[in-house]
Amino acid sequence: MSQSSSATPRGFDTRAVHAGQEFDPTTGAVIPPVHFSTTYAQDGIGGLHAGYEYGRSGNPTRTALEEQLAAIEGGAHGLSFASGLAAEDALLRAVLTPGDEVLLSNDVYGGTYRLLARVLAPWGVGLRIVDMSDLSAVAAALEERPARIVWVETPSNPLLRITDIAGLARLGHQAGALVVVDNTFASPALQNPLALGADVVVHSTTKYLGGHSDVVGGALVTNDDALAEQAKFLQFAAGAVSGPLDAWLTTRGIKTLGVRMQRHSENAQAIAEFLSGHDRVARVHYPGLTSHPGHDLAAAQMSRFGGIVSVELADGATARRFAESTRLFQLAESLGGVESLMNYPDAMTHASVRGTELAVPEELARLSVGIESVDDLITDLDEALAGL
Ligand code: PLP
Repeated sequence: MSQSSSATPRGFDTRAVHAGQEFDPTTGAVIPPVHFSTTYAQDGIGGLHAGYEYGRSGNPTRTALEEQLAAIEGGAHGLSFASGLAAEDALLRAVLTPGDEVLLSNDVYGGTYRLLARVLAPWGVGLRIVDMSDLSAVAAALEERPARIVWVETPSNPLLRITDIAGLARLGHQAGALVVVDNTFASPALQNPLALGADVVVHSTTKYLGGHSDVVGGALVTNDDALAEQAKFLQFAAGAVSGPLDAWLTTRGIKTLGVRMQRHSENAQAIAEFLSGHDRVARVHYPGLTSHPGHDLAAAQMSRFGGIVSVELADGATARRFAESTRLFQLAESLGGVESLMNYPDAMTHASVRGTELAVPEELARLSVGIESVDDLITDLDEALAGL
């Protein structure tokens, strides 16, 4: 992109490819370089060249990613962190003080619950859980007692529940709460929570944004200047920043996010339909299926339905065997890479919520559907089911 900017608002894919990615003015290199330097020369004390002083407070490669993150989520401020949980932690500590309460949805990544229940609760932060796919339950919970933060994942991990973001934002704001949406599963290519009224978007960029299972990272995006300032202060003061190479890899991943999400969604839809018709499968959770209770809502607030499909087998032992018997779907933690992954949430990603209100069904397997040839993926699943 030339450094001149256009007054016309740009489309998602244009922003993903170009935002923060101006060519290097010193060499003309089209791809901005990775800046490894931890420190920056000063022309006299305090005479900074481009505002950079020390790698924790700022780094040009991280700035490039943060501009790109803000642009793809349609926010004014993007902040990049060492992991999704580091981003969550910075946000929570920027906003909460002891005595505050978080209202959390009842299906979220196990680590988010662990952070709140086992790290922040001992510091005096309260936690209440509610099913946020049911807005009347949210309204009742907030009427009973206000919360400082309302926190939701939609689609949720691992049950793919859908929450009405605009409705949740209205309820949260009426109660004076900050409304946070973890947009990791949809990615900004499919859903923009800020445009629907959310205050902050959280990402594990380890997943779809990085997109290749080779970099751990996290992000916050918001339009709230004061909140961005507080979170930026914590990023600097507590130091959970992304390193330059991690930032650069994430930047590269984001450039192809739109086309990847299209293929992830197409493959996941075909797989969800195949599994729905299979006699060894008890239930399929995928918002792209018309039988999904959140289908209409997902169709209204997402442009596609994403790449995650969860499936219930006859019982826990069968689900474990299924998870261990695919060959193309690799049994591994995480999701959102170009390669298909298989997860058994009860003992893997969600082991930390066992025995809590957020416990996931034992008979559940979660599939992160990659961008491979869909016929090969279906054959792999068909063979694994036949062998059960
Ligand atoms: N949010 C969601 C929805 C996740 O699935 C994860 C990780 O799996 C996280 C947040 C935490 O991100 P990270 O593993 O990058 O710390």
